[in-house]
Amino acid sequence: MLSRAATAIPIAATHSSDSSGLVATLAATLHTAGLVATVLLIVTVAVAFYLFTCVVWPFGKCRRCKGVGKFKSPFGCAYRHCGKCQGSGLRVRLGRHVINHLRAVRGAGENSTSKGKRS
Ligand SMILES: [Zn+2]
Repeated sequence: MLSRAATAIPIAATHSSDSSGLVATLAATLHTAGLVATVLLIVTVAVAFYLFTCVVWPFGKCRRCKGVGKFKSPFGCAYRHCGKCQGSGLRVRLGRHVINHLRAVRGAGENSTSKGKRS
């Protein structure tokens, strides 16, 4: 812990003392900032796209029964419903859970304000 801090300080000192190093550091910082902004933009677009697909297609296949909704017995025609999805074969996708939660929070806020206006 102590040795790591001791090695980090001289590296920072050499970068700040040199003027050309300062320009290089500034350029690197700007380059890094642009890179971070690009990555953030890509992640934001990907998340927005995923949430959009969760609005249009809220369900996925149940992972336990693979969307069938029931398990057949190895003999005869007997079967039982999947306990995880109650035989529907459907699974609510993670993004849809997030959207439902956000809607519930927003709805609760709207309800409380509308109740306040009425009373
Ligand atoms: Zn299932």
